[in-house]
Amino acid sequence: MIQSKLPSLGVTIFTRMSQLAMETGAINLSQGFPDFDGPDALREAVSRHVMAGHNQYAPMTGLPALREQVARKVATLYGRTVDAEQEVTITPGATQAIFCAIQSVVRSGDEVIVFDPCYDSYAPSVELAGGRCIHLPLALPDFGIDWDRLQAALTSRTRAIVLNTPHNPSGSLVGRDALDRLAALIRDRDIYLISDEVYEHLVFDGAEHASVLTHDELYARAFVISSFGKTYHVTGWKTGYVIAPRELSSELRKIHQYVSFCGVTPLQWALADFMEAHPEHVTELPAFYQAKRDLFCDLLGSSKLAFTRAAGTYFQLADYSAIRDDVSDVEMAEWLTREHGVAAIPISVFYQEAPKDLRLVRFCFAKREETLRLAAEKLCAI
Ligand code: PMP
Ligand code: GLN
Repeated sequence: MIQSKLPSLGVTIFTRMSQLAMETGAINLSQGFPDFDGPDALREAVSRHVMAGHNQYAPMTGLPALREQVARKVATLYGRTVDAEQEVTITPGATQAIFCAIQSVVRSGDEVIVFDPCYDSYAPSVELAGGRCIHLPLALPDFGIDWDRLQAALTSRTRAIVLNTPHNPSGSLVGRDALDRLAALIRDRDIYLISDEVYEHLVFDGAEHASVLTHDELYARAFVISSFGKTYHVTGWKTGYVIAPRELSSELRKIHQYVSFCGVTPLQWALADFMEAHPEHVTELPAFYQAKRDLFCDLLGSSKLAFTRAAGTYFQLADYSAIRDDVSDVEMAEWLTREHGVAAIPISVFYQEAPKDLRLVRFCFAKREETLRLAAEKLCAI
């Protein structure tokens, strides 16, 4: 009998809900992915590069042209000059980047602070590094950091903090003031920051993304992670990047080179071409997704769901207690899928210990207008 290294884990909620949506024919607003395609020019570029013979290993650290484009983007958006050669690493997806960043700094017995509800890959990655996750719940109803709890949780064993802004699943944002506060709290401690910014371009209502890249003091100890999959509507490409100071990048690369060695070559060529030709894609994204959020929320106005519009990401939380207060969110997500034809994600699964009265489910609004209309119609009929 094999002795499991992750005995309490099965398949993820994303696999389970997408599977149930498929079996029942429900509209799938559960797992986060668009039901529309990435830009034509981007997809054409992949075919072009495949046919041009760009099909062998890419450099371990990533295609230089793509690293240059990433460096150019962060200089423009966040005012940070990074060395594309030493500080930018292209990875096969943000999930792999997070795993490698955690492996780089977490040793046996170390503690890593995560804020619940948190993305499901953090805790297993910490555990596999021999570390222990300290789960701190974000303060309801706004899902902000509880600073007293954070301060109280810091010990000599704390090795890293995982920050995620814009935040999945709540859609909340960390502001510039929060970065300053965090910097002050960890100033004299040997703590690294893993900043999951995969939704960096999905911020609404004129807000600005407070990237750790804008913060000198935090950047000096940070791994900043993003995902081309989110930004270019191609989640299945599993291509992302890490920006970290030279010394941290060097450690991360030692691990990345033995987890996967490099990212997929023709995708990197295509992304480099597209980023160069269409720098406006990222600056147009907030309006593009805000329109989807607003359409979905306007349509849900006549439903019994209660919500505050997401400040970022492509997820909308909704409180269902006016529909059924007697069921857990896991049961509710299943009931919505089976009985009402709309699949959603329960929030409690992203907690070590979810608040007892949590009545929230998450809908992904990265969908075509017709999909959102159809889903909203079904939800309003309940
Ligand atoms: N972090 C968060 C918060 C996410 O929502 C996702 C999306 N799946 C990822 C990381 C992983 O991104 P990727 O698909 O590029 O691995
Ligand atoms: N990040 C996506 C979400 O939150 C799912 C990614 C996955 O399926 N692992 O829905």
